[in-house]
Amino acid sequence: MKMHNFSAGPCILPASVYAQAAEAVLNFDNSGLSILEISHRSKAFMSILDEAREKVLRMLGLKEARYSVLFLQGSASMEFLRVPYNLMKSKAGYIDTGTWSSKAIKEAQAFGEVAIVASSKRANYTYIPEVDVVDPDLDYLHFTSNNTIYGTQFTTIPQVSVPLVCDMSSDIFSRQLDFSRFDLIYAGVQKNIGPAGLSLVVVKKEVLGKTARSIPSMMDYQQHIDQGNLYHTANVFGVYTSLLNLRWLNDLGGIPAVEFLNNAKAKLLYEAIDSLDVVEGIAAEAFRSKMNVTFRFKNSELEKAFDAYCERENIVNIKGHRSVGGYRASLYNALPIESVQVLVQVLEQINQKA
Ligand SMILES: *Cc1c(COP(=O)(O)O)cnc(C)c1O
Repeated sequence: MKMHNFSAGPCILPASVYAQAAEAVLNFDNSGLSILEISHRSKAFMSILDEAREKVLRMLGLKEARYSVLFLQGSASMEFLRVPYNLMKSKAGYIDTGTWSSKAIKEAQAFGEVAIVASSKRANYTYIPEVDVVDPDLDYLHFTSNNTIYGTQFTTIPQVSVPLVCDMSSDIFSRQLDFSRFDLIYAGVQKNIGPAGLSLVVVKKEVLGKTARSIPSMMDYQQHIDQGNLYHTANVFGVYTSLLNLRWLNDLGGIPAVEFLNNAKAKLLYEAIDSLDVVEGIAAEAFRSKMNVTFRFKNSELEKAFDAYCERENIVNIKGHRSVGGYRASLYNALPIESVQVLVQVLEQINQKA
């Protein structure tokens, strides 16, 4: 059965990645062993890790001499904690653009002073706030490039003179940016990279080691770097499946190629939302996310009909987050445009009948 999975995360990955990952569970690379039973210190895993790190840096246009890449257990929420542990001396700045930013802020507050340099909370996070000149004494500025729940996305990178940290969980590898502007990028891998349970961290080496704080080993980026990402048992299957996805993206033509497809998907859906009378977008137009499209029916009684259509067409995981309501269609890299076409047809049918 062909499903159209609009889940915000864990999300759809390419079918070829599922097939190769499944094959590796039974017989990894014709070794007679499952990927689930190979050692994280084996030669085979070293080469998986090396290739994954190399692909990440090449895709982002960054140099190994300046940046380290880590695949760590714990997911993005763990990085909310690891970032201030490793980078905060006394005061950091945070841009508050929604639930995930707020959670990052809460963790940082345990380590020192947090300056909220901009926030769109008053408008229930429906837009991206303007960032004014930032205090040059901040240890770093943290922001969330794409707000998965509200469907807003930064269109430009904040211009600051302090180290820049970004939670890129829901739009990494989806669009071209000057990634060299960032000092630390992190992402939970379950949106656009691989299976849940890991975070990807890309950190500029020179920003580490500046706090006097004693950092527990599992929290310490430098410790993980020094041990070659093998301070403890790595998530072998998670890293391998992430690599399969990175290879898929690379074969597709990398970020420029996928961005082209992502733009087409987002355009198709937003144009439908704007042209049909029965629906409206939730996020402010100038800051609409190309990864997570939030919308609602002007007459909520149409939701029932829409839900029934979705069921019939195998459209799943499209309900909005409880804090926003309405619907959310997530259009991550692996979602084919055909799924968006089916969704648009459903919206058109509802519009016609209403
Ligand atoms: C999903 C998400 C997170 C949380 O990720 P976990 O892996 O569940 O910790 C953090 N930030 C953003 C922007 C997200 O979309």
